Amino acid sequence: MKMIESFNFKGIRTIVRVDFNVPLDKKTREVTDDTRIRGAVKTIKKIVSDGGSAILMSHLGRPEGVQEKYSLKPVMPVLEKLLGMNVLFAPDALSDEAAAMAAALKPGEVMMLENVRFYPEEEGKPILPETATDEEKKAAKTALKVKQKEMAKRLSTYADVYVNDAFGTAHRAHATTAVMADFFPGDKKMFGFLINSELAAMDKVLKSAQKPFTAVMGGAKVSDKILIIENLLDRVDNLIIGGGMTYTFIKAMGGKIGNSLCEADKLDVAKGVIEKARTKGVNLLFPVDGINADKFDAEANTYISAIDDVKDGWMGLDIGEKSIAMFEGVIMKSRTILWNGPMGVFEMEKFAAGTTAIAKAVAKATEKGAFSLIGGGDSVAAVNKNGLADKVSYVSTGGGAMLEYMEGRKLPGITAIRGE
Ligand code: AMP
Repeated sequence: MKMIESFNFKGIRTIVRVDFNVPLDKKTREVTDDTRIRGAVKTIKKIVSDGGSAILMSHLGRPEGVQEKYSLKPVMPVLEKLLGMNVLFAPDALSDEAAAMAAALKPGEVMMLENVRFYPEEEGKPILPETATDEEKKAAKTALKVKQKEMAKRLSTYADVYVNDAFGTAHRAHATTAVMADFFPGDKKMFGFLINSELAAMDKVLKSAQKPFTAVMGGAKVSDKILIIENLLDRVDNLIIGGGMTYTFIKAMGGKIGNSLCEADKLDVAKGVIEKARTKGVNLLFPVDGINADKFDAEANTYISAIDDVKDGWMGLDIGEKSIAMFEGVIMKSRTILWNGPMGVFEMEKFAAGTTAIAKAVAKATEKGAFSLIGGGDSVAAVNKNGLADKVSYVSTGGGAMLEYMEGRKLPGITAIRGE
């Protein structure tokens, strides 16, 4: 594995897996959030300014075969503007035309391949009718794995060097995110700047966190977050739980939760977390009060109660002021903070206060010198919405990939390059 900052790309053709899976306006098909495109600019500029050429590849959405609405064409004007140069576009990633364009690419030039997921072998997931039997599914999958290797091999012939900078898909073993790396020797593959900074931020929290270390976990479900919670219990001093998943814990402890979100089959898991926190000496904090609604609606009637005393027919949709004050106190005393998941249904104004307060507290603690890492689409959205993105230490671009790394799992896109 090579390091991008010290690699000289002069005269070298490089194929770069980027993550341009950006949201598009349904009507105009314009890019509505260019964060992911901006994330790849440093890597592309480094290649070009060294005097190399870059072939970019990405997926967009979940197309089933070639579907124009998932074309990467809308990304082009945004990319060209950010790079300040023209970018060539190959309308079919595996076509002879694309291969010829790549072969003709001159130093300093950049080209973009059309959506790599237009080929089902990219993901290795066959498109089958619902009536397909298990055996048919298995056979189709095996056949597609062979094609996946062929796809990776073909794309590898476009360039001499492979760079993976698509952190958002690093947890996927796809043709362009992982399989391709096998077709390049160790000194001809590396991560881009984005993946390097994501790894540095996560490793700082996982491997060398300054204490006190506080994790703030929110969001809807215990089942989505249980693995990361378990891994963090070995590392953190404080674990703050908020959001919908709170209520599964409160129910497990015998509280009254009304119609609040609850995973009835996860009560034992919740009890296990409470027990593990106790034996590990982790300070496990739950909200003490909540804002309850009579329906899941932005205009719902509300009242505040103790978190474990929700009236029948009502549901808790945000944390209350006492909880906010308690959580702020812990966050402000922390030297390392990891935040994943909102404290309430922050998409609705009435239930956004808890999440906003946490975003502000994390920013304040960062100003005081703490290292803060924010991950997961919703907490990132909350930080952005409050204009705090540059007031925290690091905002991760990959929700699922970050969660899996923090769970202690190996990500195929990372191991394919780093080994291990
Ligand atoms: P996640 O993707 O697991 O991080 O969950 C994020 C979602 O959880 C958001 O869409 C929130 O609206 C939702 N959420 C947060 N708190 C609650 C709650 N108390 N009840 C229901 N949904 C919630």
